[in-house]
Amino acid sequence: MIKFFNTLSGRKEEFQPLVPGEVKLYTCGPTVYDYAHIGNFRAYIFEDLLKRFLLFMGYTLTHVMNITDVDDKTIRGAAAQGISLSAFTDTYIKAFFEDIRTLRIAPADHYPKATEHIPEMVAMVKGLVQKGYAYKRDESYYFSIAKFPEYGKLSKINIEELQSGQRVDADEYEKESVHDFALWKAKKEGEPFWQTEIGAGRPGWHIECSAMSSKYLGETFDIHCGGVDNIFPHHENEIAQSEALSGKPFVRYWLHCHHLIVDGEKMSKSKGNQFTLRDLLARNVDPLALRFLLMSTHYRKTLNFTFEALCQAESSLQRIKDFEYELRTRSFGEGKSQAAAKLINQTKERFIQGLSDDLNISASLTALYDLIKEANILMSENRLLRSDAEGILNLLCSLDDVLAVFPAPEGGMIEKAVLDSLAADKGPGLAINIPLSDEVLQKIVLRHRARAERDFRLADEIRHHLLKQGIALEDTRQGVRWKTIPAKKQPG
Ligand code: AMP
Ligand code: ZN
Repeated sequence: MIKFFNTLSGRKEEFQPLVPGEVKLYTCGPTVYDYAHIGNFRAYIFEDLLKRFLLFMGYTLTHVMNITDVDDKTIRGAAAQGISLSAFTDTYIKAFFEDIRTLRIAPADHYPKATEHIPEMVAMVKGLVQKGYAYKRDESYYFSIAKFPEYGKLSKINIEELQSGQRVDADEYEKESVHDFALWKAKKEGEPFWQTEIGAGRPGWHIECSAMSSKYLGETFDIHCGGVDNIFPHHENEIAQSEALSGKPFVRYWLHCHHLIVDGEKMSKSKGNQFTLRDLLARNVDPLALRFLLMSTHYRKTLNFTFEALCQAESSLQRIKDFEYELRTRSFGEGKSQAAAKLINQTKERFIQGLSDDLNISASLTALYDLIKEANILMSENRLLRSDAEGILNLLCSLDDVLAVFPAPEGGMIEKAVLDSLAADKGPGLAINIPLSDEVLQKIVLRHRARAERDFRLADEIRHHLLKQGIALEDTRQGVRWKTIPAKKQPG
């Protein structure tokens, strides 16, 4: 049984999607006014873990992540640079997609942009006015929180303090100023606007997510995620807008991750402790070690980022990679053992049990570390056999579908004809599409020549040498297939 802590009910609940076996997931995406920082990635990686785990458990899943490309912050940023909104946001949208690839975050099925869904938002505002939940003031439209008695059910704000009738125009505001919030903001001098049936203006931030989630996932869907800062006002307002209009429950499970702080302090640009992924890459941080660190603290605990913790994450990850390398490269006796079969089953079971309990990643990682410990003992006693090693490698590979911390295996085929030409020194032009360094390619060619001359000892030596560098070769009839594998860290 899978259980998640639902912010709405305030307790852990058994997870049952609306349609058995099919999950509909919406996660609040980036506001593209800057490069995403590691706090944002904490949220996206928590969501990625959730999604990968559900896929691992056999669910099919539709994932929608919006791109907020019009709101107070993006408009301010574009104006400050004196460029159009889309020219401004394009930079950060591209960067966002590059960053998630670097961090092995699985792509969503849809990335709707707010600016491409204005008609859907206008239709919602109109519907809310017709139903009496929204009203117009000075060409802007507001949601009347007094008309929605359940307002506050997600964030548990004190309804007594509701300041109904007073209005707030900003997209973000504190709990202390609970007001009727803007659905549609009237055109302002110098701001981008859309000419629509409800007048000239632009959407408020909250209506964006309500309109785009229902378009792609329906009026009621299974899981909605974000960081805790999204609970109020953003998600509270999404619920009000969506449920007022549809008369149906909006989301069944609300999951929120706690914040990432740096060296015990809230991240902020002014303190100089706000890091983007790019800042860390410039310091030669391994992005998958960062992913491992961001993932390995339970999502409902505050994550304190320090460079020391990053080093620790790197060495924990290296331990797993070294173990994998050992299994791949060591020679084993033929056969299969009972002890290893049991170990493999138990590990998989414990890994699943951990994540099934509200994504308790620590329990799942402990299962993995225990596997390494036990298997190392078997290896040291020469009791691990070839099929056992293969079984464990398969298990690691399938657990990595969830964790995604091993470097994505890259590889390719170098055709025999290409190798022949390169070996005959017909020029490097042929190798233009082979993503390998010259040095590695030269070794492969040297080996090809050695094999042609039946110098198998040299050929084997070269193969071993490349393996140590993390490149595995396999000879096939068409040519040589190569694959990068996690390399063992050299001591020191
Ligand atoms: P934004 O681009 O500001 O709309 O935020 C994108 C996502 O990152 C949202 O789900 C936020 O809740 C989340 N987020 C922002 N700051 C942090 C942080 N310091 N720690 C964890 N999540 C955060
Ligand atoms: Zn949102």
